[in-house]
Amino acid sequence: MTPPTGRAGRWVAVLAVLLAGLTVGWLSWLAFGSGDARPGSSASLTAALTPGASRSSPPAPAGSEGPSAAAAASGAATLAGLTVALDPGHNGGNAGAPREIGALVPDGRGGTKACNTTGTSTDDGYPEHAFAWDVVERTAASLEALGARVVLTRPDDAGVGPCVDVRGAFAQEVGADVLVSVHANGSDDRSARGFFVIVADPPPVVEQDPGEREANAAASESLAGDMVEALSVAGFAPSSLFPDGVSRRADLATLNLAERPAVLLELGEMRNAEEAAVMTSDEGRQRYADAVTAGVVAWVEGAA
Ligand code: ZN
Repeated sequence: MTPPTGRAGRWVAVLAVLLAGLTVGWLSWLAFGSGDARPGSSASLTAALTPGASRSSPPAPAGSEGPSAAAAASGAATLAGLTVALDPGHNGGNAGAPREIGALVPDGRGGTKACNTTGTSTDDGYPEHAFAWDVVERTAASLEALGARVVLTRPDDAGVGPCVDVRGAFAQEVGADVLVSVHANGSDDRSARGFFVIVADPPPVVEQDPGEREANAAASESLAGDMVEALSVAGFAPSSLFPDGVSRRADLATLNLAERPAVLLELGEMRNAEEAAVMTSDEGRQRYADAVTAGVVAWVEGAA
């Protein structure tokens, strides 16, 4: 089979890969339990899923198929070698530590801003930090099932911080290839709805080689595009505030301090009753996680 080409073809490949990956993930779930995605404990799940250690089908015959199709057919990891830094926004202990999270930290543009915030919540009180944490755990499990190494900016949903400058520099600190920060928005206008993806604009002014900085900015833009497409394909609507699904901002330290391709996802509006219902359901959060995983896979496929 000839590997599919072009944008539409890429999505066919992505869906095939995801299907295979989710099967592997499901098998590993059965074999190993819930696959805790915390930084210190992800290695065992990843190791269990590396090619060679896989308990699924034998490898596809060499040369018979393109890499994605072959991987999908064999169930082998397709994100092997990729390290993804996932940043679940805010934290469960932030509300109880106003002085700590109110402390000023560098904003990455020569100024300062608050270490962190408490985030938003649904009108029924389901908090953004819990939503972000759950979606990130699900996304981490899916990415690991596809062979990626995943590192998280916080180990649980009960702590304080980390500050936004630490989150921003996290990807390069841990040797990750990409940073995806997961949030949900809380517009006062309850009729606002939909997701948007934020990229740093102008590109981060971090101290790095100008060529590398330019490449990272371009890669961030393409990751944003792939996330918009993945979320749209999954049935989520682009934001009523940013109809093309992309918001460009200069004030987010999490993006300003990243020396790797980076996006910040606002997956939906928590104060919109319809979207709150999706966010508060296990099924809804799994759909978000699957879409974010698909976005990462599409981005990797597009860069290959
Ligand atoms: Zn947030």
